[in-house]
Amino acid sequence: MPVNGQFEMPTLPYEALGTIISKETLSFHHGKHLKAYVDNLNKLLPGSGLENLPLSEVVRKAEGGMFNNAGQVLNHAMYFEQFSNTPKAMSPKFAALLERDFGSVEAFKKEFEQKGATLFGSGWVWLSADKDGKLVITQQKNAENPVTMGLMPLLTFDVWEHAYYLDYQNRRADYLAALWQIVDWAIVESRLC
Ligand code: MN
Repeated sequence: MPVNGQFEMPTLPYEALGTIISKETLSFHHGKHLKAYVDNLNKLLPGSGLENLPLSEVVRKAEGGMFNNAGQVLNHAMYFEQFSNTPKAMSPKFAALLERDFGSVEAFKKEFEQKGATLFGSGWVWLSADKDGKLVITQQKNAENPVTMGLMPLLTFDVWEHAYYLDYQNRRADYLAALWQIVDWAIVESRLC
């Protein structure tokens, strides 16, 4: 929720993520890119009629520049929060959901990576739950978030070049494959409610 009509910077609970995401990437990605989205959103909020809504509601209702900045604040807050240097393993219960909807955990990971690798341009690959609880993978362009499609977002990999270029250059597929090592499944699973 905003405080006095302004959103705060989402905290970054680590400085680096082992050899997966460097301190340098995080300093630009969180400290510069996300900071700009938060600052731009806070400039656009006053007088918009959306200033006292939770962020996901702002994303559902906003358009144009407000949508782009609000979406990117929500997307990055979820992205940075879900990683850890001491990640919790996936529960058997969540693994069973992935097996039900994708055949196996490995098949899910393969499809998620493939959808991230083939998203043309900038955007995000998401795992979400639909209104019936079925798990689905979506490719979302630019600042889009699955909440605008009535889905409950659970996990996301950022495929904007700023997320990986310093560490992986053009090797987006290698970045995507490496991220599984730092996903904290306890956080991902806590988003399913
Ligand atoms: Mn990003």
